[in-house]
Amino acid sequence: MSFNIAIDGPAGAGKSSVAKNAARELGFIYVDTGAMYRTIALYLLREGIDPQDERMLAKALGEIDVRISYEGGVQHMLLNGEDVSDLIRTPEISDAASRTSAIPAVRKRLLDLQRTLASQEDVLMDGRDIGTMILPDADLKIFLTASVAERARRRYLEMKNKGQECILEEIRKEIEERDYRDIHREISPLHKAEDAVLLDTSDMDKEMVVKRIVSLARERMNGEKANV
Ligand code: C5P
Repeated sequence: MSFNIAIDGPAGAGKSSVAKNAARELGFIYVDTGAMYRTIALYLLREGIDPQDERMLAKALGEIDVRISYEGGVQHMLLNGEDVSDLIRTPEISDAASRTSAIPAVRKRLLDLQRTLASQEDVLMDGRDIGTMILPDADLKIFLTASVAERARRRYLEMKNKGQECILEEIRKEIEERDYRDIHREISPLHKAEDAVLLDTSDMDKEMVVKRIVSLARERMNGEKANV
């Protein structure tokens, strides 16, 4: 049986960077589900498909092959064979992904892919609905959050470091809008699973968060072994 860790939380809470490092320390596969929604959003944008147009969306979903490959432990997103890992990291795609992810057909399309990955490997999977919907029986669930101001500050620094032009106030607004959509959508809205451990990282640095996740995972793994 594989051991599954679910990490959920709002945009910019630092999920992907801490999850990546924690997975590496634990020897788990890291699965970034946001990247899957981004990949679908990229396809729709490129093809000029309105995700609200059910017929066109269904046709498009039939044409999209979304795959994950791992190179040196790093997740790459393949869209019909093309590596789009960098192309999906733009504010335009963040916005489009948060809109298309509210559509049931899109979520249904990714559900099987996510569950299959988790059944085959020890995974640390991050997203919005992993602990509540995708892996309700995950061995460890964590809800990672931080204040809006802190999340905006982190995203701002990340973009600046990559040499991307950005304005702090705009990033804050974009994060607030995505939070609103993720929390208020009808299907799989973002909320903490009852049995998830809440980690507010507003005053924690990345290393502290990784350490905490790794130690929670080890506790659970040892506990499970003791119960066998
Ligand atoms: O995590 P990331 O910012 O890359 O996710 C992009 C968008 O995909 C989010 O704003 C959210 O709307 C959506 N998403 C989701 N469910 C997930 C992961 C991401 O709805 N499990």
